Amino acid sequence: MITVRSYGATEEVTGSCHIMKIGEKRIMIDCGMFQGEYEENNQGPFEFDPKQIDVLLLTHAHLDHCGRIPKLVKEGFNGKIYATAPTMELSEVILLDSAKIMREDYETRYRKAQRRAEHKKVLKPIYDVADVYDTFSKIEWVAVEYDNYFELFEGISVRYKNAGHILGSAFIEISYMDEGDSKKIVFSGDIGNDNMIVLPKLRTCKRSDSLYVETTYGDRLHQPLALTLEEFKNVIIKTLKHNGNVLIPSFAVERTQELLCILRSMYENGELPKCDVFLDSPMATKTTNLYKKYSYELLEKCQKNLDKNGSIFNFDLLTYTEKPEESKKINEVRERAIIIAGSGMCNGGRIQHHFKHRIWDPNNAVIFVGFQASGTLGREIVNGAKWIKVFGEDIIVKASIHTINGFSAHADQNGIIKWIKKIKNLRKVFLVHGEYEAQKRFKKVLKKKTGLQAHIVAYKEKIKIK
Ligand SMILES: [Zn+2]
Ligand SMILES: [Zn+2]
Repeated sequence: MITVRSYGATEEVTGSCHIMKIGEKRIMIDCGMFQGEYEENNQGPFEFDPKQIDVLLLTHAHLDHCGRIPKLVKEGFNGKIYATAPTMELSEVILLDSAKIMREDYETRYRKAQRRAEHKKVLKPIYDVADVYDTFSKIEWVAVEYDNYFELFEGISVRYKNAGHILGSAFIEISYMDEGDSKKIVFSGDIGNDNMIVLPKLRTCKRSDSLYVETTYGDRLHQPLALTLEEFKNVIIKTLKHNGNVLIPSFAVERTQELLCILRSMYENGELPKCDVFLDSPMATKTTNLYKKYSYELLEKCQKNLDKNGSIFNFDLLTYTEKPEESKKINEVRERAIIIAGSGMCNGGRIQHHFKHRIWDPNNAVIFVGFQASGTLGREIVNGAKWIKVFGEDIIVKASIHTINGFSAHADQNGIIKWIKKIKNLRKVFLVHGEYEAQKRFKKVLKKKTGLQAHIVAYKEKIKIK
């Protein structure tokens, strides 16, 4: 009997973690972190024995897919981890950053709780930087190439195909024998949309018997990319023409590289007024360097755009500011600066310094290009806060605030259905990585458009794969 049990991303988008049992083998697909309102689920031991997991197949490096790996290793997992080479490297950057943020966060909460004599209740980070190093030194990581089947165990083969979501991302096909019949199951990981700016399109999956699919935007349609780009360019041009500055909070992976590509192409087409562009995020710089290193994985259109150093993500106006002194120096540029900084939702990082120095000035603009979760500073601003608090100081919001929604590294409802439609032989679809309401709506639309029955997976539900 073949079963799959999900220990995350059930009726929500974070914490992806599925265990497939074929015979005596236990294959884990992703081991992601719970985030936002589900964060506390990261605490406590796993509800399975990590020592019994034979291998981990990792779809991509986002924290909600790789974020609990150091915890898994800490609790006894000793198998191999399979991932594409860029995913391996990106995961290390992302996990180190996550360990650092958890530590800082813990120390702040601990200090505050001490004043209420409640410090014993403060939850400890689920792992530390040392555990991340262990994850990469003590565990064998196997670099997987796209499109080639490899034998995982006798009778079980695996193939990674490009999911076009972030650098290195894949959906995973697992072929196995079931009572003499050859069968296939696919885990989508996160799948990209058709209009990615730097990555090639999501590949098709030609055949499968069963499918676990993400439904992040299962109930939504993205606005066309052309419209999004136009909105983005208009704010930039208008603000710079009035000698204002543009602040862009951005996620380090994918969105930042897309912004750099757009700004570079504006510059080359003569659309970008005279300005200075700063990428003021050490994390985004590290990530961008990986995008440069693996540039052969990017869109051909992007690859042609190399500068004299062979880089896609450089142009004359752009400066990478890594050191804190370099970051502070940006304050001396009073006019016509475009500053891209983290964190993406503004709950930390250098963007807060730039808010302090510029958000009170009506000449300036802030452009939000990514999702802002409730409870974050970014969400407050998007919701129209007149004042914000940064570093204990009250600051008035006078800059113009723009929310541009069309950028997305995820397929929308049409995108997911279009992808599923191409899969021949498909009999059963399992929905994960989506909010319950979105999944219910997606399930209905899928049935109507394809006749396929979908099942919304519940936490720890044991699903028999037929
Ligand atoms: Zn993702
Ligand atoms: Zn995800």
